[in-house]
Amino acid sequence: MLCSGTVVADSETVIEDGAVVTVDDEIRFVGDRADAIDRYPDHERRSFDVVAPGLVNAHIHSVQSLGRGIADDAPLLEWLFEYVLPMEAGMDREAMATAAKLGYLECIESGVTTVIDHLSVNHAEAAFEAAGELGLRGVLGKVLMDTDSPDGLQEGTDEGLRESERLINRYDGAFEDRIRYAVTPRFAVTCSEACLRGARDLADEYDVRLHTHASENRDEVATVEERTGMRNIHWLDEVGLTGEDVLLAHCVWTDDSERDVLAETGTTVVHCPSANMKLASGVAPIAEYVERGIPVALGNDGPPCNNTLDPFTEMRQASLLAKVDSHDATALPAATVFEMATRTGAKAAGFDRVGTLREGWRADLIGIERSTARSTPTHDPLSALVYATHGDDVTFTMVDGRVLQDDGVVQTCDGEAIRTRADELAAQLSP
Ligand SMILES: [Zn+2]
Repeated sequence: MLCSGTVVADSETVIEDGAVVTVDDEIRFVGDRADAIDRYPDHERRSFDVVAPGLVNAHIHSVQSLGRGIADDAPLLEWLFEYVLPMEAGMDREAMATAAKLGYLECIESGVTTVIDHLSVNHAEAAFEAAGELGLRGVLGKVLMDTDSPDGLQEGTDEGLRESERLINRYDGAFEDRIRYAVTPRFAVTCSEACLRGARDLADEYDVRLHTHASENRDEVATVEERTGMRNIHWLDEVGLTGEDVLLAHCVWTDDSERDVLAETGTTVVHCPSANMKLASGVAPIAEYVERGIPVALGNDGPPCNNTLDPFTEMRQASLLAKVDSHDATALPAATVFEMATRTGAKAAGFDRVGTLREGWRADLIGIERSTARSTPTHDPLSALVYATHGDDVTFTMVDGRVLQDDGVVQTCDGEAIRTRADELAAQLSP
């Protein structure tokens, strides 16, 4: 495929009147459109206003998609324990599969090519199958909860770890290695020390990622401190949940010594600004994390706390929130948040040659149309992506050379059927 338009290859490289040529699952050429046509005259062509790398949504809960709008305007722990977890506990395999497909459909429609997905305790397999079928790249994990958890979700420590191991054997590297596994404890509040240490052992044994929530909310931090006598990040460090293979969603409430730990261990923080605002969790000190060299990726979190999986909204919110928090309009400029939503997310996920349009890299890209008043004129293509583009502007999505969305229509599933079934199931699940 030869995709032409203004090519935003990465946060520093914009090629006006450019093109990206893919052959099978790889990018073969990035440069001027005329050169591309010269070298690949018979290639199938698509033309867009902008061609960009697919975005990485580094913290989502696809299986919560049926709960979009289920608990608006509620604080985190009430939102979680009274609405979201009971919903998850009541979902059977079909509901889980439908929710995951709905989430992935939204991702593909809005330009996400890689997800890092925090599933649920039960029926995780349904989401792995859905991600493989719809064609996304992703790191998915079944959730571990072995203490202080609601009925229907709490399971024995060994039981959860054994099921995780079974899923690693089945799905890590599945679907031409587009799908990988992350061992996924929910958070320290609902996981025993044995569970967290067991998660680390499993990740080491199989060389897979670890993904959990951390220090999103002050009540959560206080609960962990009461139980362990340690600040949350110190506790996670103690049990092995820090390091270059670990993704911690949120990290809103960290003190200076915890930030030292994040920096020293190279742990990735996944910033979820919309969810942090909606649940009134607070403002994560992202500019400081970036300054200290802590890798920061971006995520939308779940549809019940966002309420969308639009990655463009998240880039915009990340930048604006940092500016208002610091009273500094230069905080987290467009290039920095674009890097978070592409290369940093892909690195954190463990995928090589993903997140940038470069020769020899994976053919994960998106095409964007700018036929709206909102996007006219465009003085700076990169800043327009961050501040003025919506997921709806994405009309073309490719992963590993496979076209997942073309001319605004997702090709790998029946989107209308998924939405209809999701509406029916959501009506049955409402608390
Ligand atoms: Zn989350």
